[in-house]
Amino acid sequence: MIRSIEQINVHNRRILTRVDFNVPQDESGKITDDTRIRASIPTIKSIIDRGGIAVLMSHLGRPKGKVNPKYTLAPVAQALAELLGSTVHFASDCIGPNASSIVDQAKGGDVVLLENLRFHDGEEANDAAFVDALAQLGDAYCNDAFGTAHRAHASTEGVAHRFSDACAGLLLLREVEYLGTALANPKRPLVAVLGGSKISGKIDVITALMSKCDTILVGGGMMFTFYRAQGLEVGSSLVEADKIDLARALLEKADEMNVSLILPTDALVAREFSNDAQHHVSPVDEIAEGWMGLDIGPASIDTFTSVIQNAGTVVWNGPMGVFEFSNFAHGTRAIAEAMASATSTGAITIIGGGDSAAAISQFGLASNVTHVSTGGGASLEFLEGKTLPGVAALDR
Ligand code: AMP
Repeated sequence: MIRSIEQINVHNRRILTRVDFNVPQDESGKITDDTRIRASIPTIKSIIDRGGIAVLMSHLGRPKGKVNPKYTLAPVAQALAELLGSTVHFASDCIGPNASSIVDQAKGGDVVLLENLRFHDGEEANDAAFVDALAQLGDAYCNDAFGTAHRAHASTEGVAHRFSDACAGLLLLREVEYLGTALANPKRPLVAVLGGSKISGKIDVITALMSKCDTILVGGGMMFTFYRAQGLEVGSSLVEADKIDLARALLEKADEMNVSLILPTDALVAREFSNDAQHHVSPVDEIAEGWMGLDIGPASIDTFTSVIQNAGTVVWNGPMGVFEFSNFAHGTRAIAEAMASATSTGAITIIGGGDSAAAISQFGLASNVTHVSTGGGASLEFLEGKTLPGVAALDR
């Protein structure tokens, strides 16, 4: 059983809390998107409003086990203080005397942020001595960082085992509930929408979803490898030559399992990989040499939209085209709109992180779907049915 932070007695106790403050920054270190900081606030408030001490720890970027001022969490401490409207005590190291003294001086209701965990190589190595040093800073443990829950690092996995009171934060619980429960017992028909550049990296999720879904819609660059598997020519579209056999096997498997795997019937093809490239709609079996598919076409948009609107549950991972180019964002936008519309008529709609999450916020529709996962890799692994070490370590 995994307990929620709300079930833990926090009063005057130090709650060592793993959050995801891995925020994007510009050259000058300015935070360009504070979504992740905002997302952690309900859990932090649950601790401090009940008189607990929130001892927060996170990674930022990839400093590779060395102190690097470029990756300091100091700007995050400031942003968090502004969002909370209260002081955030910042420790210049995540372990050792400075961290201990700041945590020791904290009183119920205080917030402490420890410096970047990845300034120590013990974090990613899940090193026992580093785990010990972190564990000294808390009386109970809470994990609210879903984005790193698929990694067995010191702060996500090792340290959880040092506390009898280990629990999930509200953000992590929401992820587990939507990605887990909704798929374990879905409202049917269950539809998966898969896109993105490549099949590789998504093989396991396609296979896992095949045993659960009624329909799988495939778009994005990966569709062209499926066409090659069907013997079609695809011009200069993205193809993973070494995955053609695998694509064929996936198509056969879908047939065997009675899953309807639907590929687009038309594509928006361009002369070159750029937003301004000359382009037109082409049936997929007529893509001429020298043209590359960068989006799904209007007939496919209609088909996909209607499948989504008739679904009970929809899970989406991966854009339908090169949505970073406005001229090739139509398919991805249409999926986002169809998901929003399906949600309004009672469907459960889940965005599985990464680029699809970026796309849905770009279109201003993030609050019109049931759940947008905060974890890219973690949400894919969860959908594959894998046990996430950071979640498993909370089970008591
Ligand atoms: P992934 O990281 O595999 O989920 O892929 C996401 C990327 O796929 C996005 O940056 C899209 O621009 C890219 N993408 C989607 N459709 C295509 C396409 N038809 N050709 C090339 N890249 C694509």
